Amino acid sequence: MNLLFVLAVMMVAAEAAPGLDFGFPSIHSAPIFPAPVIPSPIFPAPTIIKSFSAPVISPPLIKAPIVAPSPFIKTIAPVPVIKHVAPATSYASITHYAVSPVVKLSVTRDQRMTVKRFYNKILPAHHQYVDLNKVLWSKNRYLTKMENVTENGKIYTVMSKETPVSPDLHNLVGVKSRSTVYKKKDVYKRLSIVLAILIVILFIAFIIALAEYIRASKMSKTICVSEECIRSAANLKLSMDLSVNPCDDFYKFTCGRWSNEHPNHGWYPHFSSFETADEKVAISVLEFLKSNMSNKYPLPVRQAKDLYLSCMDTATLDKLGYNGIIKYLHEVKLPVMPNFFNKTAHADFKFDWIKVEVALKKTFAMDNFIGLLVDADIYNRSRNVIYMGTPDSPCPLPSPVKSKNNQKIARRNNVEEKDLEKEKLKAEAYKRMVKEVIKRLSLNISSKVPNDLLVDEAANVIWNITSDLTELADINSTNNDLQFYKFKIDELQSLSDDYVGKNNLSSKVSWRRYVTVMFDNVANVTLDLNSTDYIYVPLEEVNYLPELAAYVSSIPDIYLELYMWWITTYTMILSTTTEMADLVARESEPFVTSTTYRSRSLDCTSLVINFMGVAVSYGIVDKTFTQSIKPKVETMLSDIKSAFIERVKRLKWMDKETKQATLEKTKEMISFIGFPEWLMDKEIIEQYYTNITMRNDTFLENMMAMVKLFTPTQLESLREETERTWKTDPTTVNAYNYFSDNSITVPIAILTQPFYHLGLEVLNYGAIGSILGHELTHGFDNIGRRFDKFGNYKQWWSNATIETFENKTQCFINQYGNFSIPTIEQKVDGQRTLGENLADNGGLHHAYLAYKNVVKKNGEESKLPGFQNFSSKQLFFIAFGSIWCESIDRDSLKFQLENDEHCPSSLRVIGTLQNSHEFAEAFKCPLGSNMNPKRERCRIW
Ligand SMILES: [Zn+2]
Repeated sequence: MNLLFVLAVMMVAAEAAPGLDFGFPSIHSAPIFPAPVIPSPIFPAPTIIKSFSAPVISPPLIKAPIVAPSPFIKTIAPVPVIKHVAPATSYASITHYAVSPVVKLSVTRDQRMTVKRFYNKILPAHHQYVDLNKVLWSKNRYLTKMENVTENGKIYTVMSKETPVSPDLHNLVGVKSRSTVYKKKDVYKRLSIVLAILIVILFIAFIIALAEYIRASKMSKTICVSEECIRSAANLKLSMDLSVNPCDDFYKFTCGRWSNEHPNHGWYPHFSSFETADEKVAISVLEFLKSNMSNKYPLPVRQAKDLYLSCMDTATLDKLGYNGIIKYLHEVKLPVMPNFFNKTAHADFKFDWIKVEVALKKTFAMDNFIGLLVDADIYNRSRNVIYMGTPDSPCPLPSPVKSKNNQKIARRNNVEEKDLEKEKLKAEAYKRMVKEVIKRLSLNISSKVPNDLLVDEAANVIWNITSDLTELADINSTNNDLQFYKFKIDELQSLSDDYVGKNNLSSKVSWRRYVTVMFDNVANVTLDLNSTDYIYVPLEEVNYLPELAAYVSSIPDIYLELYMWWITTYTMILSTTTEMADLVARESEPFVTSTTYRSRSLDCTSLVINFMGVAVSYGIVDKTFTQSIKPKVETMLSDIKSAFIERVKRLKWMDKETKQATLEKTKEMISFIGFPEWLMDKEIIEQYYTNITMRNDTFLENMMAMVKLFTPTQLESLREETERTWKTDPTTVNAYNYFSDNSITVPIAILTQPFYHLGLEVLNYGAIGSILGHELTHGFDNIGRRFDKFGNYKQWWSNATIETFENKTQCFINQYGNFSIPTIEQKVDGQRTLGENLADNGGLHHAYLAYKNVVKKNGEESKLPGFQNFSSKQLFFIAFGSIWCESIDRDSLKFQLENDEHCPSSLRVIGTLQNSHEFAEAFKCPLGSNMNPKRERCRIW
């Protein structure tokens, strides 16, 4: 892990996706490198497995509310209208009851039987006019009102009554019997009131039940045809390979056809859902930058457009030629052409490399030999301190060789034969490019063109130093403990001097001088290196600085100057003429290229996003986001947090005190969703980009106006406290947990398809929900758990709980450590990827629990069109799998296996789901299948 320290992991990283650290963050934080650009991959065709079993519909998460098919019968039918019943007449007096149609009675069986009995009693069985069976058993006939019957000149009323219908006089009464009316008056009155109340209650209950029934039937039976649902359905359907058994390889089941549907046009070596979202951002920013901008826009927004225009103005770039290079070489105290090409200068040449190293850092924000960073003290975030170690900040200016991937074009031990050959070719190509650039440049900026032999030698020197430094700084980090040595500067010096002395060299390195020159003229900072100002060096990099000191001391000054001249020149080379840019592109093709170059307009857009992400966000974000979307995402996060909290409360492996502290940390964890609210405030955004001048025709100058602010701003913060605030641009398609802030950041750029706005909550929870859960769980992974609720690195768990936790992690280390990729003979590093794997596993689980709670609260959702045969549980997991669809070439995969703390995406899906019994249940995966293996499931969170 060759980073400017584990800090990058500890405070800035922990992102959801691998290799996505492009996006030049705000000018107040350390620059992050643009995405690597190397040749595009051809994704291996998915294996077709015929034994696919169709997904089985599993029972809904909760039962739909039960509503009887005909609520009328039970609740309303036999309406007891006694209140209006006419006076009773003794039924005994009725001997001839001749009119059959009056027998319109309610339909429950009991009633029918009772009424039948009743009529049989009052009517002679032989009565010729009545067909009781026919009348009484006919269905769907209700007695909803009184029926008048005339018998022997008397009028009777037939009423219905609550079950059972009593063969009582009340049901067949003489209409005009006044005496009975008076006699029963009070009883009727009371009964009437009671019944009226009952009717009202029953009616309300009926309405509620009806509404619930309609809602439930709507939710569970309808198909969602919103634009979002249709888009999600199409995207998922076209990416899935239904010929694959989901229990064999869920990644292929979900993503098997993704590459066909998302052809990589060659701009990315690693093309995934994250890049597709990134492209959407780029294109909307491009449209915005091309639009007319009135003066009403904040100045930085208009400046972003100027930066774009200046990048597009190749005519002016050609006209300016190499003036920019000359100017900035001068600023960093380097000659226009290095003294290496002046043979007479070689003998006694002296070169102050520290002065230039500092100048490069301050002017170009670039670490060259030494990495330096001012950031929150890992042990006490209320103050900032100085960190030193391997170089980790490359210059933000566009350059063809920037990625860590490409820095690896160096000779290394333990590489496969095939790769060694490739490395050699790359080295040759690199040297050829160096030579061509030197020749072309010297023609233009110096009167003398060095001879070929000298240029050859220069290319060799440059290559050797480049590869030596790469090797020196290639430290494979396993420092999960994040231990830092706090050095007094003199201690560091004597450590270095010892090492240099052992190598029989005389030291050219004074660390005190390096740091002192660095902080020269920095406002509000007076260093006290003898007592209070320590240098923090990561444990694993403690040897780097002494080794570097020895290395630098072993190199002739003339070489050092040549190398630093080259690095500086090369950093600016793409910001000069079209001719030079073409030359570099052509010559560097064998070791860097994408197979296809993007249009300049898109490249320029990406550059503007990297430099002025906050300003362009002003132009592209949905202005209603804060009111409409943000609260929903916050609710989702809070649902997931609640699920996590519930989980923690039930944990058996954690003691009570640690549990309490864990709950407190969860509560204290803050989130930054979408974009900073001040983004829409013209005054604040102008203040944010204060002191920057831009013109629409000075590309290099424009970029440098910003780059030159980075380091001084950071150095000035040494005596300040790092704010808990936004530390990435809203335009970044990623999410973060900043351990030292105990915060989660979810930029608006990731709140898009295929992560969010998917039409159904089940999809949203499966996708962005699992990412939110991932970031939340990071706070409690093997590294995050070491930071307390305030973001300070300290022990806040009990020893016993730590021990149990560590033991439990072994399950994950073993599980992932056994994974390999068929095309590469290399296994996943279960230890290095542990934190990410814990976050993936916990994240998915909590998102799932949170979703279940949502269903409990709101009921089942509609179906996704084309997915009616899939249960909502299954859809949840499909949505989760789909966010990790990608095409990746062998080189990138290999690089990822060797360096990244994230597993290859396919294994992130498989590994996580193998541990999910909910998944196995949803897809009915037989025990022993690949996705439901016969072993203990790993689970911590
Ligand atoms: Zn992560």
